[in-house]
Amino acid sequence: MRVIPLGIGGWVSNPLLGNVALIVEVGNSRILIDAGEGTYRALRACGFDVDNLDLILITHRHGDHIMGLSTLALFARSKGIALKVYGPRDVDLEKLFDALGIPQYLPTIDFHPIDPSPEPLTVAIGHDYKITAILADHTVQTLAYRIDGLDGTCITYSSDTRPTKNIVNLARGCTLLVHEASGNPGTEEVSHLHGHSTTTEAIQIAREAGVKYLMPIHYYVEPPILSNVGSDVNIIIPLPCTPLDMQKLK
Ligand SMILES: [Zn+2]
Ligand SMILES: [Zn+2]
Repeated sequence: MRVIPLGIGGWVSNPLLGNVALIVEVGNSRILIDAGEGTYRALRACGFDVDNLDLILITHRHGDHIMGLSTLALFARSKGIALKVYGPRDVDLEKLFDALGIPQYLPTIDFHPIDPSPEPLTVAIGHDYKITAILADHTVQTLAYRIDGLDGTCITYSSDTRPTKNIVNLARGCTLLVHEASGNPGTEEVSHLHGHSTTTEAIQIAREAGVKYLMPIHYYVEPPILSNVGSDVNIIIPLPCTPLDMQKLK
């Protein structure tokens, strides 16, 4: 399994970071997680295209995670393909595409709504992978996803969330936790107010889940400060377009 970040920033961020979007390559399949503004541009810049995607997992309906879906749909239609998209039930693509003036592009999306649950829920099984989702703790209905590959590696992506046991449960025994870390230590109150976590909390979730490798992501306006990491958690800094080979982490 390989993970390739396309973007690593939050909604209010340095524009050079882009919005969080991850490509997960597992066996012969390629899964895109989240599609904020600029995801199509980032996809092409990193050497991919819409017809390389087997599946798109949307975590929630905030713009920095979904606004790029319309552009992906435009290019999918021009190639004569459909996009298989999974996301929480309250993602209203009909309303979104209508607001953007492209309701005719809706049939390009094959949408599979998921009812978020506080218990891990298997949402898709492919030849090379199994995808599990759980309810995160954000300001709108949000899913965290776990992808288990046939090669024995596993990634969990928290999406936007306050620290929650649900993600500890989902990530348990996984190879890598990609956890949102919007705030620096000391900003817990304001981070939680907006449904986010701090860097220290992301480290703590990795520790509780027994995950050795943490990729903090979804940076806001300040450089992330990682304190009290400890020897049980290794930090992997996400770099756009740069593949992480999960086999090397086992
Ligand atoms: Zn976000
Ligand atoms: Zn959000």
